Amino acid sequence: MESSKKSLVIMKFGGSCLQNKESYLQITNIVKEYMKSTRVLIVVSAIKGMTNKLINFYEKSCSEEQDCDLIIEDIYNGHFQLINKLFDVDSSEYGGVLELLQKNIEDLKHLGSLIKLIRPSADIYDLFVSYGERLSTFILSNYLSSKGYKSEPMLSDKIIRTDDNFGRALPLLEETEDLVKEKLIPILMSDKNLIVCVSGYFGSTKDNKISTLGRGGSDLSAAIIAYALHSAYLCKIIYWKDVKGFLDADPRVAEKTSLIKRISYKEAKELAFFGTKVLHPLCLDINEKGEIPSEVRFFYEPESEDFTMITKEIVQDDNVIKAITSMEKLSMVTIEGDTMIPLSGTASKLFSLLGENNINIVFISQSSSENNITFGIEYEDSMKVSFLLRNSNYFGEEWFKIKIDHEISLVAVIGAGILYTPGIAGKVFTSLGDNQINIKAIAQGSSELNFTAIIDRENCRKAVNVLYNAFINRK
Ligand code: ASP
Ligand code: MG
Repeated sequence: MESSKKSLVIMKFGGSCLQNKESYLQITNIVKEYMKSTRVLIVVSAIKGMTNKLINFYEKSCSEEQDCDLIIEDIYNGHFQLINKLFDVDSSEYGGVLELLQKNIEDLKHLGSLIKLIRPSADIYDLFVSYGERLSTFILSNYLSSKGYKSEPMLSDKIIRTDDNFGRALPLLEETEDLVKEKLIPILMSDKNLIVCVSGYFGSTKDNKISTLGRGGSDLSAAIIAYALHSAYLCKIIYWKDVKGFLDADPRVAEKTSLIKRISYKEAKELAFFGTKVLHPLCLDINEKGEIPSEVRFFYEPESEDFTMITKEIVQDDNVIKAITSMEKLSMVTIEGDTMIPLSGTASKLFSLLGENNINIVFISQSSSENNITFGIEYEDSMKVSFLLRNSNYFGEEWFKIKIDHEISLVAVIGAGILYTPGIAGKVFTSLGDNQINIKAIAQGSSELNFTAIIDRENCRKAVNVLYNAFINRK
């Protein structure tokens, strides 16, 4: 059946691809090229900087500050100026786009005054911040129409169903598939030349409240839509970005870096987890689940061979390790108990306490003497963790010793090669050791696609470069 499916490329354009006249021209160039051989569906972010402005507007509106009008004016002007650059005043689209802008700005002002009367809440926040994508989607779709394409905007609350964890909602894939079947596929089927522009970043809960997918969530919207369409179409996603793709180390830390041209979902997920913010980590889970190939491409060089292709297959080449990553600002907590205290019960108490208080645990490491637990958290959380532990009925007791080291970093080598190549850990130890970098703890993810060393923060940069030279830049 696979071969009878039509191909569909889902393109996600980020905010930096939507800033000025040149970028919209670039979008039409890209779309034109791809439409020669495939159908295209577009997922649209808010115009660069707008989501931040909307968040600011929400916060100021809640706190009854006076400068809300200035912010809303700024949001209006940003869109108004862009519209005037993109559309001919005499074009049939101009009036409609301007009208929609004015209506949306009125709605926002209304929400702004409403929030002063009621209690701020997460669902209202989501409603506020969704306006960036509501506007940008309508603008792009009309722009494409004005350039002679057939295009229709679609608001994503109609087709993406999420849970009600507002601000960071998770998609409900089955429900979304049903909605997509009912509301999107018939439109796609009706005309193969039609470009549907879907708003990124948000969906709706089962009570029809707007829910956002977290910052950078438009990537995730593209993945969700591709997943919901993959039984009807042969889907591929292209994330158009202002970077070429995944790099094998963070250029702010490493002296040398290069582009990773092919990577598996699993490896890319590890990279995303360790702070490489190329894609929303959950995208990769969804792409993997639907086996949807995806590409990260540089918006300004659409034809370049330098891009990252993410596929199911793990490429086994000479480079066992695909990338070196680091998380610089971490803290490490060690809880030492009396030998009489059963550690399993203690661990479950500990992790529930941290979980209930939204503390993200970055790694867990176990020493051979079984009376302590060591784990890593983000540096910003260390005060909170210290407070929680010392004030808890259980851990506050005197037979626990709690030690927090605020000055640590994590470096990790990443690659599916770790699964089938012996000696990776040994090589990490010797390369760091030969360079006088002391390893304070080690950890390995259950995926076995990373091997992690915990070191003093002052050595972080050096460690990344040492590992880069040992595993990737082997000369
Ligand atoms: N506009 C949203 C944000 O800035 C979503 C996105 O751009 O992906 O986070
Ligand atoms: Mg964005």
